[in-house]
Amino acid sequence: MPSADRVAATDADFYLLEQSLEPAGRQLLHQVREFMEKSVQPVINHYWTREEFPHDLVGGLHQLGIAGVGYSGYGCPGGGCLLDGMIAMELARVDSSIATYFGVHSGLAMGSIYLCGSEEQKQRWLPPMARMEKIGAFGLTEPDVGSGAAGGLTTTARRDGGDWVLDGQKKWIGNATFADYTIIWARSLEDGQVKGFVVEKDTPGFETSKMHDKIALRVVQNAYITLDGVRVPEENRLQQADSFKDTAAVLRLTRAGVAWQATGCARGAYEHALAYARQRQQFGRPIAGFQLVQDLLVRMLANITSSACLCARLSALQQEGLAEDHHSALAKAFCTVRMRETVGWARELLGGNGILLENHVGRFVADAEAIYSYEGTREINTLIVGRAITGLGAFV
Ligand SMILES: Cc1cc2nc3c(=O)[nH]c(=O)nc-3n(C[C@H](O)[C@H](O)[C@H](O)COP(=O)(O)OP(=O)(O)OC[C@H]3O[C@@H](n4cnc5c(N)ncnc54)[C@H](O)[C@@H]3O)c2cc1C
Repeated sequence: MPSADRVAATDADFYLLEQSLEPAGRQLLHQVREFMEKSVQPVINHYWTREEFPHDLVGGLHQLGIAGVGYSGYGCPGGGCLLDGMIAMELARVDSSIATYFGVHSGLAMGSIYLCGSEEQKQRWLPPMARMEKIGAFGLTEPDVGSGAAGGLTTTARRDGGDWVLDGQKKWIGNATFADYTIIWARSLEDGQVKGFVVEKDTPGFETSKMHDKIALRVVQNAYITLDGVRVPEENRLQQADSFKDTAAVLRLTRAGVAWQATGCARGAYEHALAYARQRQQFGRPIAGFQLVQDLLVRMLANITSSACLCARLSALQQEGLAEDHHSALAKAFCTVRMRETVGWARELLGGNGILLENHVGRFVADAEAIYSYEGTREINTLIVGRAITGLGAFV
């Protein structure tokens, strides 16, 4: 018989990363955990099945004061890059859709304004977004332009007196069906460069339609957007976004967040699998006592731990202002590959029960597919790192 004489180390924070946070940060992280475990976990599968967004539920999330933790000033709570990343991990540990909703708002949308807005624009938009009274979306991808957005954007911006007129289409834009502000990236007909525009809800010519029947992140409301002569005043053009290089600076920031999210998704699946293995009996004993099951669990834990440690170092580089595109790209590519592997092993460990939504792991497996592809596929992030280490661009 296997010995049952040891206390199980069920906490997946195996290298005690949480201890790197200040006490206030740890407390906030625990509040996020409590909200996600008590309010989201028991009901999220119902929303996932119906591909509905839990508008009634996210009020509790908005009150946590976690939007803009990675930024300074403008009504943002601050707290630093490590706390920001660990919050992303904590959200995804319970549900990747809620983590994505939050990441689009706090990372992509607020990040675009924080990095590319003028002082006046940051003062205008960031405080209500930090309070999550106003919600943001980020529109870069188009129906025919995904990975090749840098050179291939077809949405246009034409200057007309004090306004800009936007025309084109977007696809996959998270939160866009209900967002108050959608950042639209479009190519200027004046200088051919990509510029960012804050399009406010209900602007004439701006139409969204919800995408249906996704097999991943079904709670996230992704939209097609049609821009038909959308008139935006010059004061809504992000004043510090002069070319795609500025868009890339936003992606550098948010890809780090996605790496943390991927680690959280893997961690959630692992924790469900570990709990299951400890209570599920076969051959008269818990399956956790079988060597091959322990092998799976330890491989999962190693994936999570290595991903989390890599992300923590990336957060430190961000904090010191040393993070470059290739640092974020490596983390995004590595952590999402490890996530996909980990959620697959978690599902395997649950046997047939792994495909039942009620056991949660199936949702993690499905959601991982979207995280794997968005914010730059593995191939594109690999090419960014490849270019950095060889000095040779191999995109085309
Ligand atoms: C759930 C979800 C949410 C999203 N949310 C948003 C959002 O809020 N805002 C937004 O703007 N976008 C969003 N996206 C879009 C996302 O960023 C794109 O899906 C992603 O960038 C990949 O683009 P694509 O899907 O068009 O694939 P494609 O670019 O068509 O790529 C298809 C395949 O070809 C490969 N490939 C392409 N070029 C190369 C190359 N040079 N070398 C090698 N391989 C290559 C890719 O790696 C991929 O495997 C979202 C996507 C999803 C799935």
